Amino acid sequence: MLCHPKPINMSMNEPKQPSEIAREALKRLAVRHLAPTPANYQACYNEIANLPNLPIFPEAPLRELSLALQARNESQERHLDNLSAAISRRSWDGVKDALVGFSTLGERPAPNLAAAASTTSLPSEFCGKLARFVECLLPALGDGESRIVEALEELIGALRLPSVSAGAVQDILGGLAHQATGAAEEQVEIRQSLLKLLHLIIENISVLSLEDSWLKGQVDGLMAGVSPPLNLRSLDEVASRLRDVMEKQGRAKLRSVEAQEEMRKMLAAFVERLGSMNRSSAEFEGRIVESARKIEKVESIEALRPLLDEVIVATRTMIEETAQSREQLKELQDKVVLTEAELMQLHQELDNASALARNDPLTDVLNRKGLEEALAREIASMRRRNAALSISLLDIDNFKKLNDRFGHDAGDRALIHLADCARRNMRPSDTLARYGGEEFVVLMPDTLLEQGIETMARLQRELTKAIYMADNEKILITFSAGVAELAAEESGVDAIRRADRAMYLAKRAGKNRVLGG
Ligand code: GH3
Ligand code: MG
Ligand code: MG
Repeated sequence: MLCHPKPINMSMNEPKQPSEIAREALKRLAVRHLAPTPANYQACYNEIANLPNLPIFPEAPLRELSLALQARNESQERHLDNLSAAISRRSWDGVKDALVGFSTLGERPAPNLAAAASTTSLPSEFCGKLARFVECLLPALGDGESRIVEALEELIGALRLPSVSAGAVQDILGGLAHQATGAAEEQVEIRQSLLKLLHLIIENISVLSLEDSWLKGQVDGLMAGVSPPLNLRSLDEVASRLRDVMEKQGRAKLRSVEAQEEMRKMLAAFVERLGSMNRSSAEFEGRIVESARKIEKVESIEALRPLLDEVIVATRTMIEETAQSREQLKELQDKVVLTEAELMQLHQELDNASALARNDPLTDVLNRKGLEEALAREIASMRRRNAALSISLLDIDNFKKLNDRFGHDAGDRALIHLADCARRNMRPSDTLARYGGEEFVVLMPDTLLEQGIETMARLQRELTKAIYMADNEKILITFSAGVAELAAEESGVDAIRRADRAMYLAKRAGKNRVLGG
């Protein structure tokens, strides 16, 4: 507790001695009944000595502290000096400033990167390579990217200067990054809009041609082909399939128009022939009636002779004309049959084109869509007959390595090789489908799980025996497979998922094996 300030009765002429002040301070403590604490004593002392009553200044501990502090740089040394001076002045503010200054400067000075970058020169070889790289990028940018092109040209210009400042390049790159982000977002939007448009067009084609079931198949395939994620390969495939369909459709249309015209002409000829047959038979009838009438009036056998000749000639003419008509009609009939067969063949060709939409063009086994339909069929049949259905999913082992080592074409041929081998070794009732990149699904009706596993293991053995060559090297292709037997209430998708999980476990267990799911 501090004592309250009291008016001091003191002569201004005679400053008191410290010992005198001390004595008086003690007396004052007693008079005021204050506890003899250092703070109370100090307060009384200050009052008598007419000094400001400040809290006790811990000089000694502060000196110890200042000695314990180690300066790590010149600035810190300066602050330690300030601290020492502040302690001498007993100035808390000074102590505070010195300690805050000391501690802030203890951190390692942060390099001023921007300043450093703006003054650093980039190595000329690096700048040359970067400029060439940027130049190669330019043709890839479309006409709509003129602002980015300008910025890139500015960057090339900056990189070609005799001395290239990193700061300048950094500034240009900063601007470029901003523009590139905007442009990339725009490109994504454009692509999405184009895809939407394409889907709309394809959907419209199918609506316009509802009666053409073959076209419907194509449309489904095209839709699947232009679904994201897009890549150049799948787009190429869609384009070539579309060209094929259009060409076949064009050919079929032309031929069927021609065939219809032929049919029309043949029909006209047929009607004309019938008319002439009628005409000649009416003529024949008239001549016969006339001859009969004349014969009735004949009185001698000699007079009968020319009349008989007339009848014979009329009959012969009639027979000849009938034979001729029959022949012509036969010809027409043959032509009709031929044209009909040709039209049938055209339709068959179109149906085949439609089947393409369900087949994978590379391996010629069912594609995902074909698999969906086959799976639905097999499941329905299995449930109807209360039979078993096993489904296997196989994935080629280390396929990426094969692609990397021998090229993508060799990889493609390996996929064809596997599909051929599987086709050769499967039962006719089994179905093979390409499920994805290097993954295939096998549907095995009337097959229990154990038999399914055995079938797939046999296929593995057959595949090891079948020789596959790449770059004159014999390559061993293996796969890992999972097999699931469809449960009573299970969907096909769920069974495939179980087979997939089992296949994954087969991979984990060391690959080239078959596991049941
Ligand atoms: P794992 O043994 O674990 O299955 O390894 P992996 O290399 O076979 O499997 P991963 O999934 O890593 O690689 C599959 C590769 O198959 C990647 C992809 O480039 C390739 N691929 C997918 N589709 C095709 C195709 O149609 N042709 C070719 N040549 N390669 C394809
Ligand atoms: Mg795979
Ligand atoms: Mg694989």
